[in-house]
Formats: sequence, C-alpha cells, structure tokens
Amino acid sequence: MKKVGMIRCQQTEDMCPGNTDFKVAKEGKLAFEEMGPVEVIGFISCGGCPGKRAITRAKMMVDRGAEAIVLVSCISKGNPIGYPCPHYANMRDAIIKKIGPEIEIIEWTH
Ligand code: SF4
Repeated sequence: MKKVGMIRCQQTEDMCPGNTDFKVAKEGKLAFEEMGPVEVIGFISCGGCPGKRAITRAKMMVDRGAEAIVLVSCISKGNPIGYPCPHYANMRDAIIKKIGPEIEIIEWTH
C-alpha cells in the first residue's frame, strides 16, 4: 500500500474535517482509482495564504515516508464552496521543485 501525505487549504478547516479525503484514500476511489487504497501518513494544511509553508510541509512528509503528495480538492477544486486556491499553481510548482519529480503529485481527491 502506497503512503501519501495530504495537504489541505487552511481556510477550509472551519467548514470541512476532510472526511471524504480519508474515505476515498482508504477505499482507493476517485483520485486513487489507479493507485488503489493508500495509507495517509500526514494530513496537514498549507499553513495559510499564500501557501508558502506548504512547500516545506510537503518535504517534511516526504522525509517521513510519503511516496506521493496529495493536494486535496479544497485547494485545486475549491470544495466545498467552489473557491479554488488562487495560489494553487505556484504552490504546486514550488512543491515539485522542492521534493523532486520522482515523488508523485496527486492534484485532487474527490
Ligand atoms: S494559500 Fe490557498 S490553500 Fe492555502 S489557505 Fe490560502 S486559499 Fe487556502
């Protein structure tokens, strides 16, 4: 079973506990269809706007065993209020630069 570290939007913490992210990860559904069920080794926020803390947080999870980093759907799709992160592309690109291309990035969950 692959190990993943999840990063979520800090501003969404007030309105969503992330339960669907855990559900689809455990069941290997939607974004995890190809990978199958995964073990979530960390579930951490971006650290607040503009998301710079997400870069070192992603690295920390890789150092602690994450084989893929998941940017959950509150960031990329704006769940549950339809408001995607305006810093998303910069955050994702900086994470890739920091952790290297060998670590897979999954850009949504459900
Ligand atoms: S940087 Fe993006 S993901 Fe992070 S709190 Fe702000 S809007 Fe949410």
